[in-house]
Amino acid sequence: MPRVAAVPELSVASPSLPGVSQDVSHPEVAATPRRRPALSPSRAGDFKQCPLLYRFRAIDRLPERHTRAQIRGTLVHAVLEQLYGLPAAERVPAAARALVAPAWAALCDEAPDLVTELFTGPGDPELAPWLESVGVLLETYFELEDPRRLEPEARELLVETELGSGLLLRGYVDRLDVGTGGQLRVVDYKTGASPRPVAEARALFQMKFYALALLHLRGVVPAQLRLLYLADSEALTYAPEEQELRAFERTLDAIWAAILTAGASGDFRPNPSRMCEWCSHKALCPAWDGTPPEYPGWPADAAVTDETADALAVHPD
Ligand code: SF4
Repeated sequence: MPRVAAVPELSVASPSLPGVSQDVSHPEVAATPRRRPALSPSRAGDFKQCPLLYRFRAIDRLPERHTRAQIRGTLVHAVLEQLYGLPAAERVPAAARALVAPAWAALCDEAPDLVTELFTGPGDPELAPWLESVGVLLETYFELEDPRRLEPEARELLVETELGSGLLLRGYVDRLDVGTGGQLRVVDYKTGASPRPVAEARALFQMKFYALALLHLRGVVPAQLRLLYLADSEALTYAPEEQELRAFERTLDAIWAAILTAGASGDFRPNPSRMCEWCSHKALCPAWDGTPPEYPGWPADAAVTDETADALAVHPD
């Protein structure tokens, strides 16, 4: 698609490797200026899934262990973001594969402990096959799109907007395409397989979140929300309607009101489910005989730096 002029309020680039650089376990994050509380798709999803998980991630900002699947997602996103920085004719599978090693090196520079967190060390025999699996996902991407024929307006785009209620929305869009007639297409890469109904609803929640933010920022309803599932080469597309997005806005306001109520009292209840198996905070969870740290209090006019835990979940499988 032809490039059109960027809209200033949408042109803020995200960090090149958000998956790790914003981890709370890294000292540079501790020095990050505190920001106004905001809601992101991931944190809204956390609160809906388990209010205590939301607290641990967004308020306590507890460090979380990384997984190979998460970091593979971060790498795939980093490579696809960089791929679109190449001249169109050079966006071929070999170029994408060639970007994997430098992206991994950059990630390890940002988070020197990552390789020993995920592997026994640089000599772990599982490292090379794992990096190869990144290349395989990238190959699959080319079955879904020909990046030589696309000219995105933005990649890894920060969208931030305030709703009428005062709720601040904040999130990152993997890619935004704009058609000649100004039609917006929001594209999100998933490194997992196309989802079953529950996961599909979660993915659509995320996409509607971005669509609503763009509606507020640009005054137009995105024509298409497109999810690309690289593990099984499936694409899901969805055309939202304005009425639906306005109803979604009320849903977000209700979630935020519930978060503020819990934030004022500190009553963030655990909601155990099979998702607990993947929760980094099980040892601190009363549902599993743990004891949470003392509630630090709602961060008033300081910040729930939403991107922190987002960074861990920004590219979930
Ligand atoms: S272990 Fe389960 S119930 Fe406890 S905080 Fe994590 S997700 Fe929630």
